[in-house]
Amino acid sequence: MTDGAAFILSSKIKNLPPTHPFQLVFRRLVDEKEPWTSGQWMTERVGGSDVQNTETFAKYAPFDKESIDPLGEGDYLINGFKFFSSATDANVALLLARTPSGKLSTFLAPLRTTVVGSDGTHRQVSNGVRIHRLKNKLGTKELPTAELELKDMRAHLVGELDQGVVTIAPLLNVTRIHTFIGSLAAFRRAISIAKSFAKVRTTVGEPLWLIPMHLRVLADLEVKHRAGLNLAFFTIAVMGLVEDDVLPPPELPHLPRAGKEATVVFRTLTATTKAVISKMSIAGIQECQEAMGGVGFMDEPDEPEFNLSRLLRNTLVNSIWEGTTNVLASEATRFLLKNFNTFDAWIERVHASIKHTEFRNALTVSWAALKTRFLSNSQNPATVIADGRRYMFTLASILCGTLLALDAERDGDPVYHEIARRWILDVESGVGGAFSDIVSSRESKSSPTESHADWDCRIVWGIDLPQRVSGHRSLNSTSRL
Ligand SMILES: Cc1cc2nc3c(=O)[nH]c(=O)nc-3n(C[C@H](O)[C@H](O)[C@H](O)COP(=O)(O)OP(=O)(O)OC[C@H]3O[C@@H](n4cnc5c(N)ncnc54)[C@H](O)[C@@H]3O)c2cc1C
Repeated sequence: MTDGAAFILSSKIKNLPPTHPFQLVFRRLVDEKEPWTSGQWMTERVGGSDVQNTETFAKYAPFDKESIDPLGEGDYLINGFKFFSSATDANVALLLARTPSGKLSTFLAPLRTTVVGSDGTHRQVSNGVRIHRLKNKLGTKELPTAELELKDMRAHLVGELDQGVVTIAPLLNVTRIHTFIGSLAAFRRAISIAKSFAKVRTTVGEPLWLIPMHLRVLADLEVKHRAGLNLAFFTIAVMGLVEDDVLPPPELPHLPRAGKEATVVFRTLTATTKAVISKMSIAGIQECQEAMGGVGFMDEPDEPEFNLSRLLRNTLVNSIWEGTTNVLASEATRFLLKNFNTFDAWIERVHASIKHTEFRNALTVSWAALKTRFLSNSQNPATVIADGRRYMFTLASILCGTLLALDAERDGDPVYHEIARRWILDVESGVGGAFSDIVSSRESKSSPTESHADWDCRIVWGIDLPQRVSGHRSLNSTSRL
């Protein structure tokens, strides 16, 4: 939220004098020694997904006393109730409120302001913010989330009056990126803990890390994580292009062209990547928990770094805040309904650049099927949006396959080639909720040249399988895979 707030302010301060409150707040938000933090107050009792119902009001009432704290002397008085406000201990907040026109505007307010006491001394008091109650949450307990009552809170208008959603939208791009990177980081930590456990655990007289079925579970997790990682960092790369409005480097021809193409790909991807990685990571962390048996379910407060229960609890919220899966699927499909041709031109160009024939053909077939379904229903947007999750998850499955194919080509690493092959042609690690007929249309009938377990071991442990074990006492002595 702090990063997003700084990003919004960075675009508003160019022509402001250095003493302007926005300049001060920006400097403090990006300060490395004593940084400020920012909240983001949008959700209200009547809804978080639909902020148009906002019941917080802003009245223009310029400050008319002697100035002692310009940041706390904004021209607007805010009154209302914010239902979910994380970082309650933040220094400032960006918030939405309704002006007399009935439309939403974005405001910046400090949580504390300076007043002069009767003895003439200055002291800090709350800027009209009363903590109604702290939320009891399943996870993210270290982060205070509160219901806040706002009473005559002084705030500054940010951006154009009555253009609140347009002004605050770039913040959501940033927070969604933090959300999916947080999910992937938690997922990676869970995989590492589950792998460490497998290394030291013995069962049925055999090392768990080599038992074929367990090795396959771990390999599937690695494939999913690698797919998510590619999708995540590609989205971030496109964000860089859009933010800086620069041409993609020639050595990365799969990046979209500057201008409309980059914007369309970025808007589609931020929603899709956040939604899909959140879901994938939650399922993946749960699998890691199970991979440690009963130990995975423990919730030891004195060992937070190994606590998968805590990791899972904290990751669960990532599919809710900054847009639920439904809301993001609706956003992505509605956006594609308006910009399909631009997105299509980009993805077809990328597919054509994939050198591996089987990968290229499989991905092209999948995309053609998705495109046909989308366009044949596009006259009826409600039908498309009702299937929004399926469109979004199918798109993500194709995009991950595309990026994994390019990833494998980049340095010719055989392990990354096998990961791409599994994602694209085995469809064994596909993300949930996709159109199954479209995703399975690319399934290959051919099997890998070497045994699955050999590749599982290379994917998970980065080594050739040192020893074949069976995974059951009855097969121990005569084991053959
Ligand atoms: C721990 C935590 C911290 C939070 N911190 C903040 C914060 O700091 N600032 C802030 O502003 N908010 C915060 N939120 C709120 C969060 O952003 C909202 O909860 C979220 O956006 C969903 O809104 P809602 O709770 O009103 O649910 P609703 O919008 O009522 O959604 C209920 C269900 O309806 C579905 N739905 C809603 N609209 C549609 C639609 N058009 N089509 C299909 N399905 C739909 C949703 O997917 C969901 O499943 C926080 C939430 C949590 C849990």
